Amino acid sequence: MTKFDQMKQIRDKVLTLKQSPLYEYRTSNKYYPVIGEGSHDATIMFVGEAPGKSEAETGKPFCGASGRFLSEMLGGIGLKREDVYITNVVKDRPPENRDPTPQEIELYAPFLDRQIEIIQPKVIATLGRHSMGYLMKKFDLDLELEPISKIHGKAFQAQASYGPVTIVTLYHPASALYNGGMRDTHKKDFEILKKFV
Ligand code: URA
Repeated sequence: MTKFDQMKQIRDKVLTLKQSPLYEYRTSNKYYPVIGEGSHDATIMFVGEAPGKSEAETGKPFCGASGRFLSEMLGGIGLKREDVYITNVVKDRPPENRDPTPQEIELYAPFLDRQIEIIQPKVIATLGRHSMGYLMKKFDLDLELEPISKIHGKAFQAQASYGPVTIVTLYHPASALYNGGMRDTHKKDFEILKKFV
């Protein structure tokens, strides 16, 4: 099966995920699930938390205000969105942009796990603490897990089923929208990705 078909299979499963606490909210608002976007052969995969309103209305990850900042930071290291793969841990929008619950993360994470197996990225950049927490535990980095204020902009070596993978822990781009002073920190942290470009 092609990578495209495998991704489509994931989409079909998420579309009919009636046991999700977010399913009813999605269908009653005519929202889309957000599976991911970008190159299926990407070296770098970005993983955010969950879709916001703009994303649920379009089905595209990071297409609102935080997405614009993400695209700007990608441009800063010479990358376009189509060069990377962008997704989230949770594929449906939580109401009022609340944080995803541990149960929602557990329910949706197997789809992210499959996406990692399909794309086989050399680098997984986590955006925000939920994505960081899930992926560091998945890759047996529990002992290195600290608050994001301590480990933002760091790289951790891990082993995936398909070979070595570097986990890069980044702040969620939205945090720079509430606090403009953070923009430079985000951009500086992003530079760690330059050596993989
Ligand atoms: N925030 C996220 O974590 N993901 C998106 O896709 C958009 C905003």
